[in-house]
Amino acid sequence: MPELPEMETYKNLLQMKVTGQQIVAVEVNREKSINTPVSQFSKELLGTRIIQIHRRGKYLLFELETGKILLLHLMLGGLMYIEDKTDIISRTKQVILSFSSHKLVFIGLRLGYLHLHDSTSVKGEIADLGPEPLHSDFTHSFFESLLESKRGMLKTTFVNQKFIAGIGNCYSDEICFVAGLLPTRKINTLKKDEIKKLYNSISTVLKEAIHFGGYIELPLFKDDQLTGGYNDKCKVYDREGENCVRCGNTIVKQTVSSRKVFFCPNCQI
Ligand SMILES: [Zn+2]
Repeated sequence: MPELPEMETYKNLLQMKVTGQQIVAVEVNREKSINTPVSQFSKELLGTRIIQIHRRGKYLLFELETGKILLLHLMLGGLMYIEDKTDIISRTKQVILSFSSHKLVFIGLRLGYLHLHDSTSVKGEIADLGPEPLHSDFTHSFFESLLESKRGMLKTTFVNQKFIAGIGNCYSDEICFVAGLLPTRKINTLKKDEIKKLYNSISTVLKEAIHFGGYIELPLFKDDQLTGGYNDKCKVYDREGENCVRCGNTIVKQTVSSRKVFFCPNCQI
């Protein structure tokens, strides 16, 4: 499932590709992917422009010039692609937004969705999200205060979107690795210096992942050199049996609370 760096990469690339452009056609092939009748959805979108794209956690919010918002969550398997006349992707497309020279297509939306909201109703949808880990308000002391009442494992706490927004299975493991802490470590056993390492690792890992375009394998458009660049840079996630880049030991995979965790049993404590 795309996490904060993947959605941030999508946001940055889409800002360049679709912001300011008029929507000239709307096609919905899967009614379940939207939250209104198709005719209403099309009517609201036709002729309008996306004036700004925001990210909150794993969501993207497409702000339309009419004041309405398209709220996108890709969930598991959802992807986007920008087609032009010479480059059409052969995948089932749930929603297609056409601009004058290209199309933004949404694929793999099974649990994922593209919902139309007004500025009030959208707030309700994202009200439960925890803080943004790369926001300037997310200070070390704030992070310490977030952990104070927590007793669970690092893994299950990090993937909880109410705790911190945007971190999922991959980056929770990567953050724990960089901090030298086991994802199974109980939060109430963390020492002060370990919390500091964890705090620093959050921004180090997420910023590096954004810099390299996240781990989504499908490029957003032909000649997109950015998307997916972090795939080769994950140090533990999906690297079971490989050598740890820090100590050479073998990376292992375990299942805890029905989630996969990847870590080095030698240099993470
Ligand atoms: Zn190691």
